[in-house]
Amino acid sequence: MGEILVVGAGPTGLTMAAELARHGAAVRIVDRATAPATTSRALVVQPRTLELFDDLGVVDAALAAGTRADSVNLVFDRERRARIDVSGLLTEPETHTEYPWLFSLSQHETERVLTDHLASLGVGVERGVTLTGLTQDPDGVTALLDGRAVRFDWVVGCDGARSAVRTAIGMPFEGATYAEEFIMADARLDWELPDGDLYVFPSRSGFLAAFAMPGAGRFRIFGNVGAHGSPDYSEPTHEEFQTMLDERLPLPARVVEEYWVSRYRLHRRGVPRYRDGRVFLVGDAAHVHSPAGAQGMNTGIQDAYNLAWKLARACRGPASDSLLDSYHAERHPVGQRLLRTTDRMFSVISGQGAVARFARGHVGPVLARRVLGRESVRRWLIGTFAQLRISYPDSPLNARDGGWRDGPAPGDRAREASLGTGRVYDVLRGTHHTVLLFGEWTGLAARIEETYRGRVVARVVGADETAARVAYGVSGSGGFVIRPDKYIAYRADPLDPEHLLADLAARL
Ligand SMILES: Cc1cc2nc3c(=O)[nH]c(=O)nc-3n(C[C@H](O)[C@H](O)[C@H](O)COP(=O)(O)OP(=O)(O)OC[C@H]3O[C@@H](n4cnc5c(N)ncnc54)[C@H](O)[C@@H]3O)c2cc1C
Repeated sequence: MGEILVVGAGPTGLTMAAELARHGAAVRIVDRATAPATTSRALVVQPRTLELFDDLGVVDAALAAGTRADSVNLVFDRERRARIDVSGLLTEPETHTEYPWLFSLSQHETERVLTDHLASLGVGVERGVTLTGLTQDPDGVTALLDGRAVRFDWVVGCDGARSAVRTAIGMPFEGATYAEEFIMADARLDWELPDGDLYVFPSRSGFLAAFAMPGAGRFRIFGNVGAHGSPDYSEPTHEEFQTMLDERLPLPARVVEEYWVSRYRLHRRGVPRYRDGRVFLVGDAAHVHSPAGAQGMNTGIQDAYNLAWKLARACRGPASDSLLDSYHAERHPVGQRLLRTTDRMFSVISGQGAVARFARGHVGPVLARRVLGRESVRRWLIGTFAQLRISYPDSPLNARDGGWRDGPAPGDRAREASLGTGRVYDVLRGTHHTVLLFGEWTGLAARIEETYRGRVVARVVGADETAARVAYGVSGSGGFVIRPDKYIAYRADPLDPEHLLADLAARL
């Protein structure tokens, strides 16, 4: 069996290596840093990522180390506020989830949880090892690790925004750097607002946000501080944070203490192709954008989740090239959309032009009340940020049989719903494909499980399991093939068993 090299042990690389190992592939993971990072960086773990952590078996460890935020609050002034209750909005069949909150977990804790998980699968991170170059040919990849040539079947670049893998394959990283500078602190605040929520304070002078962290009065605060001709990366001072609060908060607030501070500029860049022969780019190596919306780390983790099961199959035996190409076909549009939306959000929340300042100071409060006053808009927004609405409608892996009016289509996320015992995601948990059969199909289920022993789990959804029937939009007979990354590959409505078996045979 061929070996895969994962370069970089950030959240993306750790997920990638762990998923490859769980799917039975031989993997090595290296990181040039000699020790794990200890800073908090990405803070918000989105509901879709928590679903993924549930699949990996690490969700309890993650939940124990972070804190739940139930709402996002836009605070314009003392009277004018818009509160968006996250849990209450993730209740539609499409976005229903076991984890309906924004979850605040420091990135180093996320990395610790994933590193422990990886170790439990028998893979250790090789630290202090730097990839300095690579070349590929039709049979494999020669990677230079600290200058020493080592041969692999595949290489996955999870080595962040300055990816050496990307440079080695000559892949452009198109985009730009924003002129605006930001300062950020993990701090203890003394103010009247309750702990445990997310606050955004748009004001004429700029943008300021405070995201709850574990611990009394602890928040991540960050905001823009203007554009300087030449970048200034000096450590921000206590006075700068206090001034930012005084200028932009409509209520008294004091920074009691900072635990970690950072000054940075942001980029919007992406690669045109996520795959080049035997080399893949994943996470920040493939796309970087403003953290507005807290999407970056979550997107990288899900890139990895998308690619790992496909690549593991390629290592176990002949997998069609189109299966590997589907990684780019599915995830590149997600990355591109993210670059566009975060860019727009960034322009509004931190732009210093007259229009952006006016929008924040005057139009914002009115617009926010009007727009966010609509429940449908709030539901759409939160479901999108939660990454529960991401779908791959044009995926080459999609197949269908028949037609339907309700419920998910091929390329959509598998929906969560309760069953007679447990829930749909309990059935999906694991590395297998899943077949959900609606109707009297016990014999068919047994035949499928016998044919694809260990590789497919087949579950008949009974007539009385109405929550699942409603979620999947099936009133009579129907069938779904669900991929190991919990996306729908095939839907039949009504179900013809021979067609479903033919789909499975072609797929597996
Ligand atoms: C201040 C800040 C706040 C953020 N907030 C959020 C947030 O709230 N939510 C969110 O989703 N995202 C957020 N992000 C973005 C998030 O941190 C990144 O998207 C995430 O770290 C990307 O993970 P990654 O594993 O792809 O890359 P990285 O975390 O950059 O990891 C890359 C790894 O590769 C290693 N490496 C690099 N080059 C080599 C080499 N040549 N050889 C071997 N190893 C190498 C590095 O040492 C590193 O460990 C934030 C980012 C910052 C800076």
